[in-house]
Amino acid sequence: TPRYDVLVIGGGAAGCAVTASLLKRDPGLRIAIVEPRDQHYYQPGWTLVGAGVFDRARTERAMARCIPSKAQWIRAAASAFEPEQQQVVLEDGSRLGYRALIVCPGLSLNWDAIEGARETLGKNGVTSNYVFELAPYTWQQVQSLRKGRALFTQPPMPIKCAGAPQKAMYLSCDHWMKQGVLPNIEVDFCSAGAVLFGVADFVPPLMKYVERYGAHLNFNETLIKVDGEAHKAWFKVAGTDGQTSTVEREFDFLHVVPPQRAPDFVRSSPLANADGWVEADHETLRHPRYGNIFSLGDVCSAPNAKTAAAVRKQAPVVAENVLSVLGGRGLRAIYDGYGSCPLTVERGKVILAEFGYGGKLLPTFPLDPRVPRRLAWELKTKWMPSIYFDLMLKGHEWMAEPKHLEFEPRPIESPAACDF
Ligand code: FAD
Repeated sequence: TPRYDVLVIGGGAAGCAVTASLLKRDPGLRIAIVEPRDQHYYQPGWTLVGAGVFDRARTERAMARCIPSKAQWIRAAASAFEPEQQQVVLEDGSRLGYRALIVCPGLSLNWDAIEGARETLGKNGVTSNYVFELAPYTWQQVQSLRKGRALFTQPPMPIKCAGAPQKAMYLSCDHWMKQGVLPNIEVDFCSAGAVLFGVADFVPPLMKYVERYGAHLNFNETLIKVDGEAHKAWFKVAGTDGQTSTVEREFDFLHVVPPQRAPDFVRSSPLANADGWVEADHETLRHPRYGNIFSLGDVCSAPNAKTAAAVRKQAPVVAENVLSVLGGRGLRAIYDGYGSCPLTVERGKVILAEFGYGGKLLPTFPLDPRVPRRLAWELKTKWMPSIYFDLMLKGHEWMAEPKHLEFEPRPIESPAACDF
């Protein structure tokens, strides 16, 4: 069985960024990334593809160009974890050993939770910016709709980029408004949640846009079934008295965001918490029971906003802490829960929501973050793809240096960490 200093599961935003951070600190490390796909996706760009601002090609790059060249790329999918043996099992049954393991295979879109969805995606006006192939169909449908009913759905939390379901609505409405057809379109936002956005400071400026576009907000409504040909969708409605009921809605255009969960091989593993996500200390991002296992990105159970922005700050923390474990030292690097959601409220303006644990505002710029700004739109549409591909994935930690514990470093709690 090959054994690596560090084994990374997943070559997405998190896997590539953390590997680059590690190699920058110690170029001699033996690191391998297990990643089955040939293409790497810049998913934050899909909202813009769905609004005709980006071509989808701008959000895709060959995986070979994203995985750091000093790391070994194992083109396979992981299928199980054996933390007691310090091994990972691949889908072909072979095993890889490690001194430290980093688990970051992202999350799974659970389309099966919506009856009839798979059959009609990409047809009958049913679309989703959460799928690379479908984001262009969103734009096509937005352009062709001139009257009727548009529904935008949001599933129960957690989901990646919690603002993306409403971003799709704002940018679509902005187009319809500029075309002069918005008065002929009834717009509904149906969310499983009870609030428009999880960080209360951003709700009032977002409500201004909801009102400007005349969108109806329907809370506690979860999409459970779609009949594309009949142009009908069914929602489970949670009543205040604990009773549930079902409501039927007709649509001409339906933007679906599916429920999301940890990948099956993670859910069924000893690394998972009760909800299936990889257990991790919220600050050090280390597994509480296996001292040489870390997690970051969408699969991690830490209660931050699941975003690439969070990954940018998590990667250096995990890199430093992994090196501490490999060197037999206590952990010092701390993640503050930073995540960001650039809310594209209209073409040319973004509310740059940046916040940490507990909804604490953490703006990068010394400006009121609740104000929609052109500068933030420029950042999102012009600079972010290069910040992502050319800085974050390459280990350049511009404005992402980890915070450190000033006092006692965290002791190594688990014997597995010392057992090399
Ligand atoms: P991913 O980037 O999804 O990568 C996971 C990788 O793991 C994939 O390459 C996959 O192939 C691999 N993998 C899966 N299974 C296995 C396996 N069994 N073995 C090995 N490898 C495996 N974030 C922002 O910061 N700002 C935004 O504005 C924003 N907008 C978004 C809009 C949309 C529509 C979407 C979909 C996402 C958005 N995000 C945004 C979220 C951001 O894209 C994710 O949070 C980020 O990609 C998470 O990185 P990750 O590495 O955890 O997962």
